[in-house]
Amino acid sequence: MSQTDIAVVGGGPAGTLSALNLAKNGYKISLFEEHQSAGFPVQCAGLVSEDCIKLLKSYVNPDRFLLNSIHGAYFFSPSGDFIKVKGKTRAAVVERKLMDTELLKAASSVAEIFVKEKVLSVNLHGDSVYLKTSRSNYSSKYIVGADGVYSKVARDLKFERPKILSAIQLESRFECMDEKYVELYFGREYSDFFFGYAVPTGDEFARIGVVSKNNAFYWISKLLREHPSVSQRVECTKSCELNCGAIPFGLVDFVKKNAVLIGDSAGMVKPYTGGGIYYLALAAECLGEHFPDLEEFRSRYLQKLGKEYRFGYKIARLYRELSDEDYEYLIGVAEGIRFEELHMDMPTTVLKVLPAFLKLLRNPKLSLRIAKCLL
Ligand SMILES: Cc1cc2nc3c(=O)[nH]c(=O)nc-3n(C[C@H](O)[C@H](O)[C@H](O)COP(=O)(O)OP(=O)(O)OC[C@H]3O[C@@H](n4cnc5c(N)ncnc54)[C@H](O)[C@@H]3O)c2cc1C
Repeated sequence: MSQTDIAVVGGGPAGTLSALNLAKNGYKISLFEEHQSAGFPVQCAGLVSEDCIKLLKSYVNPDRFLLNSIHGAYFFSPSGDFIKVKGKTRAAVVERKLMDTELLKAASSVAEIFVKEKVLSVNLHGDSVYLKTSRSNYSSKYIVGADGVYSKVARDLKFERPKILSAIQLESRFECMDEKYVELYFGREYSDFFFGYAVPTGDEFARIGVVSKNNAFYWISKLLREHPSVSQRVECTKSCELNCGAIPFGLVDFVKKNAVLIGDSAGMVKPYTGGGIYYLALAAECLGEHFPDLEEFRSRYLQKLGKEYRFGYKIARLYRELSDEDYEYLIGVAEGIRFEELHMDMPTTVLKVLPAFLKLLRNPKLSLRIAKCLL
């Protein structure tokens, strides 16, 4: 049986960034990835903040996977009315296949990488972890479960599991309102959980998608065929790339004895968008700083992001609380909001503009419902 200090399961961004951060402490790391390469199949719109790119820059050269830079967003009401909002900071669209490949390459300089090796079972006995893979048996002192939303590590070690949302995304030719702005489509007709989106890739194409509680295919069909604005601008052909994926909803306890979960396996995604890359990159960094004190890691990560998760869930609840009429009304009056105060990764920044926004509404019932949901 081969021995290692830390076994990392999963070669996605959570696994590779964990390996890169843990290696700073001189541990022997073995990383297992069931596929030949990382980032395949692609299940990501690739939208990340400027802060996330800065963080990734400490490990790899982002120029190798940047597709487009984003300056803000269009918010659409169900009838197709919209406002254009310039962000305080920029965002970027990345090509996940390339990003994951670069990260795996970087991780291979600090860890032993086993590709095409699936972890089949994980057990904790005493102070050791035992792994059975599709090729061999291993033991380690610690294990990092970075094996995505359906994590085998989490299931075998009986971690609590997050709820799972389904997502569908189409990459297609699209007449964007502005290639530097993402588009968000609100309303009960286009998503039963979040909103629909279009993320321009900068080449007259966009990744258009929806996140749903139970039938993403139904909602994406409605968005593409019936949305008054999207349906006029999308060019769906048989050659369009269609990706289905899962998004975890709900951060779970991610530390147990000598085991830790990072990324989708732990539900480390922004609960109001489903974006996971920045929150998992921060977790991997925090893990590296505090390892081997896993309790300290948990406490520091929650200190940094706990209130953002909690407020993020409230925003996600608000999407479902608002009716189509509410969205029409809100888009109509939203021009008066100081959007430049908002940070796409830090939902509590909404609190900076909330009092002025509620005053602006001139609709006491709606103000009360929003306040009840968010405060
Ligand atoms: C449609 C869609 C759009 C999204 N858009 C965005 C976005 O715009 N921005 C953003 O920040 N996030 C986005 N996300 C979320 C983002 O893709 C995830 O949060 C991120 O990929 C999580 O990374 P991870 O490393 O935790 O998991 P994954 O990327 O899923 O990687 C897990 C890895 O583990 C491997 N693995 C699994 N089981 C085993 C096993 N038993 N043995 C060995 N290896 C195993 C898998 O092969 C995989 O390579 C999107 C998600 C979806 C579904």
